[in-house]
Amino acid sequence: MIENVGELLPPARLMLTPGPSNMDPRVYRALATPLVGHMDPWFNEMIGDVQVMLRQVFQTQNRITYPISASGSGGIEASVMNLLEPGDECIVCSNGWFSERMAVIADRSPGAKVIRVTAPYGRKVDPDDVRRAGKGKKIKFVGLAHGETSSGVVQNLADYRKVADELGALLVVDAVATLAGIPLNVEKERIDICFSGSQKAISAPPGMSPITVNARVEEVIKARKTPVASWYFDFMPIMTMWGSERSYHHTPPISLIFALREALRLVLEEGLEARWKRHKNNQMALVAGLEGMGLDLFVPDPADRLVTVTSVTIPSGVDDKKVRQQLLDEFNIEIAGGFGDAKGKIWRVGLMGYSSQNTNVLLFLAALEKVLLDNGVRLPAGGGVAAAVQSYRHAGQPVMAGANK
Ligand SMILES: *Cc1c(COP(=O)(O)O)cnc(C)c1O
Repeated sequence: MIENVGELLPPARLMLTPGPSNMDPRVYRALATPLVGHMDPWFNEMIGDVQVMLRQVFQTQNRITYPISASGSGGIEASVMNLLEPGDECIVCSNGWFSERMAVIADRSPGAKVIRVTAPYGRKVDPDDVRRAGKGKKIKFVGLAHGETSSGVVQNLADYRKVADELGALLVVDAVATLAGIPLNVEKERIDICFSGSQKAISAPPGMSPITVNARVEEVIKARKTPVASWYFDFMPIMTMWGSERSYHHTPPISLIFALREALRLVLEEGLEARWKRHKNNQMALVAGLEGMGLDLFVPDPADRLVTVTSVTIPSGVDDKKVRQQLLDEFNIEIAGGFGDAKGKIWRVGLMGYSSQNTNVLLFLAALEKVLLDNGVRLPAGGGVAAAVQSYRHAGQPVMAGANK
């Protein structure tokens, strides 16, 4: 038996991780509003607003556009499961932990075959390798992560769309780390399935995976000979709730939908272009600051660097965990370590959604510098903050408190 469990009092952290990001106070307020039943007519109207806003954020008119009741990984699973049938082949571009997850899930899809086209951590997958791998084969879809969060790499969607067209394949894009943080236009890029996560650049609580599915995919699903192997993630039946019927499929996470609604409203209030620019300016300042401290960025080519997640090489002799613990203890700042091949080698700093603020960048750089000095790293004192301030000046952006400044 548990005795004397105190009131829940989480520490006030600044989450500069690759998700979750901090949330705007308005999103917390929406999260804490009273429940309304999911069969209530008011609820049915309200979710219509969520869909309209999601379509604007994804930039699509797709009928099937809704948040799945699952974290970002649920978006991967839903995409893969709805497309693959026994005997199908797909290609997954695997250049890190999350894109590899898509391959792992496809591996488990009954009777399906996965061709992995790989690139090392920190690099893009070469579209020519995808072309070669799919040549002469019937490929159901090409899947990739727009932003590979485990290494901080972004990939140019048009390159993979072109190859998928040549192979007659659908294009499935994991935009968990990128939607609402960097330019992404589902219609223009002709993405067949695109999904994201609520807790990254959208800055809603974790637990929802916004997804959009185009008419071409609907045709493919209708032509299936076997039922989708997952009941919960079967796209079409979920439309009984999100489509015109508005009837029961499963009980959705109502409070999370409230919070997502407010977060999407804030995305559109700021404007996609302004939001992308804010993310870019803050990342440029962070990069300038890290380099100003004499640190090396893990992704060698600046063009390949993901704006929402910056990976930096841990200086030799420095204890990864000790530094991160000290940042937590002394500054309430959380950053992430590496996964898979990059474990112990890199730190990953997320500047996503509400966390992407210039004051956060400067605070983090000052904190990291202090902690690294404590840990015996020799660096030019003040170099990080000075370089970041310079970067903001260059971008014509004054340093002011507030998410949207
Ligand atoms: C975070 C992330 C995921 C996984 O999302 P969860 O919400 O943790 O399930 C998948 N893909 C990418 C690119 C991510 O950044």
